[in-house]
Amino acid sequence: MDLHLQGRVAVVCGASKGIGLAIAQALAAEGVSLALCARGTDALKESADAIRAKFGVEVEQCAVDVRDDGALRAFVQWAAAHFGRLDIAVPNAGGPPAKSFLETTTAEWDAAFASNLRSVVAIAQAAIPHMQRGRFGRIVAVTSYTSKQPAPGLVISNALRPGVAGLLRSLSNEFAKDGITANAVGPGYVDSERTREVLRGQAALHRTSYDDAVASAVAGTPSGRMATLEEVAATAVWLCSAQAASTTGQTILVDGGSYRGL
Ligand code: NAD
Repeated sequence: MDLHLQGRVAVVCGASKGIGLAIAQALAAEGVSLALCARGTDALKESADAIRAKFGVEVEQCAVDVRDDGALRAFVQWAAAHFGRLDIAVPNAGGPPAKSFLETTTAEWDAAFASNLRSVVAIAQAAIPHMQRGRFGRIVAVTSYTSKQPAPGLVISNALRPGVAGLLRSLSNEFAKDGITANAVGPGYVDSERTREVLRGQAALHRTSYDDAVASAVAGTPSGRMATLEEVAATAVWLCSAQAASTTGQTILVDGGSYRGL
């Protein structure tokens, strides 16, 4: 299926590895030019070089910590000015630490708010005027199945992700008339570095081994396995497509059936 993304321009955050990188690769495969950011330079440059070489699209990269509100907004503005348009924005960053509630600190709550919620505000505010000019926009935030169902040991994520879902729903109400959709892709367990960190946290919480935590995580997933990075990326790319124009304000879970609600 032609997703009609050829020639579009996307900003993808947290793109040096994991889900952000997988989404950047999948967008590039559809002919989308990219402006990528992550905190450090080396891994990001390596990822950008590999995408450029493999897919032949223009890829720019910049070290930006999404918790730095001013730098993040400036990066989005720079990307729109450089490419002369901005069609797609993918807010994404590392997730909050896996901890029990009483172990969490105020500094961790503040950092997670900046990283996982306020950054979505900044990216959307910077990107939307450019999308309005083009009468086309796709905001696809990477969140979590905790948007819909709290998970043990992920109290900060459980509290913040529903806020992102509410923000995106608000954006969908306000900007659908401009051809702009605002959605999230909500992974369950995905085989990435982030998952390994979460499972290590759960192992510590339950005083069990890492291997037991992996087995119990997969046992709770009806599909019996973690999702792949490619599966998450494909869902995000579909949300960016022309065909997804009437899907907005949604969190699409990629969780192997873990979420029990309707
Ligand atoms: P990851 O750790 O593999 O990659 C995170 C990426 O974001 C890296 O490129 C990193 O450099 C970048 N990054 C981290 N903090 C940043 C910051 N402050 N500013 C800019 N860039 C930053 O993580 P992942 O597994 O790809 O997870 C991405 C998101 O998906 C996270 O929010 C995570 O909570 C969520 N998620 C992941 C899973 C999973 O199983 N991996 C499940 C549910 C939700």
